[in-house]
Amino acid sequence: MSDINELRNEMDAVTLEMINLLKTRTDIAKQIGEVKKSIGKGVADEEREENLRRKIMKVTQEIGLDETLASKFLNFLLNESIKVQSENKQTHLSIFLKAKSLEQEGKKIIHMEVGEPDFLPPEIVKKSLSEVFDEGFMKYGQARGMPKFREALAKYVSQKFNVEITQENIIVSPGARFSIFSAISTLLNPGDEMIVIEPSWPAYKDCALNSGIKVRTINTTLEKKWEPSVEEIKNAINSNTKMIVLNYPNNPTGKILPEKLQDDIINLAKENDLYVLSDEIYSQYAKNNWKSILSYDYEKSIVTQSFSKSHAMTGFRVGYAITSKKIIEKMVKLEALCLTNVSEPIQYVAMKALESDTSSNSKLIQSRLDMLTEKANEMGLEFMIPDGAMYIFAKINQKDFDGVKFANNSLEKGIAIAPGEGFGNYKNFIRISACQDEKTLMEGMHILGNIMSDIQ
Ligand code: PMP
Repeated sequence: MSDINELRNEMDAVTLEMINLLKTRTDIAKQIGEVKKSIGKGVADEEREENLRRKIMKVTQEIGLDETLASKFLNFLLNESIKVQSENKQTHLSIFLKAKSLEQEGKKIIHMEVGEPDFLPPEIVKKSLSEVFDEGFMKYGQARGMPKFREALAKYVSQKFNVEITQENIIVSPGARFSIFSAISTLLNPGDEMIVIEPSWPAYKDCALNSGIKVRTINTTLEKKWEPSVEEIKNAINSNTKMIVLNYPNNPTGKILPEKLQDDIINLAKENDLYVLSDEIYSQYAKNNWKSILSYDYEKSIVTQSFSKSHAMTGFRVGYAITSKKIIEKMVKLEALCLTNVSEPIQYVAMKALESDTSSNSKLIQSRLDMLTEKANEMGLEFMIPDGAMYIFAKINQKDFDGVKFANNSLEKGIAIAPGEGFGNYKNFIRISACQDEKTLMEGMHILGNIMSDIQ
């Protein structure tokens, strides 16, 4: 009896010491965060993390501690540092909110920061909204979505992407965002690792951070046409790696991977038994050859889709995920817990929207991107001509250029643009959205040109 008490006291003392050390470590992380901010360095530093990981693995072997356990503990610590250093990170959303409050004060702002189509949803949406009451879609329903809607989605997806999908492979969610959150938080556990290729939409990382999952970042560059190297991805994989996230056509770069590279990445994922979360919400806006991850028929792939961009239905909050029945079951549990189900009237309206032809939306965005491309070239911006999506991700060739400062100053001059930093370590980049009519975009680009020549 006294033995166990002694051991327990010893364990308590060790735990208290660990808590004290955690406090010391968090304080140091904060200080490092301040220094990084003052010298304009991004939060995550893969190289340093990798060095520490190597040292820890060496010690782990020497002292005979389980490597997976040590690595999970390290991942927890690294995530905590990222959390304390990421406070006040500025993204396109913070610029958008600032723009909105300036507008309330009466200032005119041209919105080139948001990824929200300015055009209306298909005409049938209006009609369906008025039908929905009489049709009787207004009750609680299945968390995975209405069978009729999932059947329509299965047919739509099968035809569009030339695959065989049944309604059992589909879960309806309030926007792709929730499907992404759901896939990450139900399939991965704290301490697991997930690979994200940057630049990327920030929510993949934020979802991971929220669930205690460690993100391994693969940085791609404009010089290498935003293509990740398979070797680099391979090197980032270890026994804790559970998922890789893909998003092509990409937000913010507009990149579509060459088919061979995409094949190689999927093969690598298969070899390492990784989930592939493929966010394909910009597939409607693919200009060049693009192949859905569904075409690989990989049981551990989760493809997310949405009505937000393709059907200009951002405010309706409706999207869906396509995956194996096994994964659907896990995601359904979380959706039932959080939301019961996506609003039935909205599901009905989205089902009707599937009947509409949205090809004019793609043509419209494409012609705006062509125009933006021409203008941005004239202005001497460096960028890759987008293969799809709705954006241009451009480098500003100026010493010590700071996208966040630039975006904030630009608001004063009447344009809102997204700083590159919101998408990873891309301080000298800005993202310009093609979500306004051509005349407004031209006006916005003109203002941007003036601001740039002022700071030359
Ligand atoms: N994925 C990407 C790449 C996005 O850019 C966005 C929205 N900007 C979303 C997902 C979220 O879409 P939804 O409105 O369907 O939640």
